Amino acid sequence: MVDRDLRVPGVPGVFATGDAARAACDDAGNYALMSCQHATRMGAFAGNNAAAELLGVPTRPYHQKAYVTCLDLGEAGALFTRGWDRKVEMVGDTAKKTKQEINTVWIYPPLAERAAALASADPERVTDL
Ligand SMILES: Cc1cc2nc3c(=O)[nH]c(=O)nc-3n(C[C@H](O)[C@H](O)[C@H](O)COP(=O)(O)OP(=O)(O)OC[C@H]3O[C@@H](n4cnc5c(N)ncnc54)[C@H](O)[C@@H]3O)c2cc1C
Repeated sequence: MVDRDLRVPGVPGVFATGDAARAACDDAGNYALMSCQHATRMGAFAGNNAAAELLGVPTRPYHQKAYVTCLDLGEAGALFTRGWDRKVEMVGDTAKKTKQEINTVWIYPPLAERAAALASADPERVTDL
């Protein structure tokens, strides 16, 4: 369990993120899942907040509005849903192309360059689909 800044309550100076953290995404009762889309954005906030606390500047509450599921179905293509009620938005080849783009572009690690790495860790720039 973590608070909105991804601090571990009762353990000063410790933040948790990704699969290890149960974090609220919003005020509507939705919590981050063990997924890349949540881990990537939470990581940016946790890293920012750990550094901010060390520097004595304000931390930023983690928030993530969007939630999508993109499921590869092999030869049957894929299924893309949006929202916590999983409204179907794409099927078949179109969804499959999106799945491949997610894996090769959206969640792909940044180049091993300082500017690219820092940009990918900026909470304001990490995509909220
Ligand atoms: C088979 C599989 C398929 C998945 N498919 C999808 C998918 O299609 N879409 C999706 O959104 N999510 C998917 N997930 C979930 C997604 O991979 C995780 O939610 C995400 O990787 C969590 O990120 P994380 O940074 O919290 O943890 P991780 O990615 O697990 O990173 C933790 C890192 O910490 C390192 N580590 C562990 N212990 C130590 C230590 N003591 N010291 C130093 N380093 C340590 C590990 O080696 C690892 O590199 C999948 C997971 C699995 C297992």
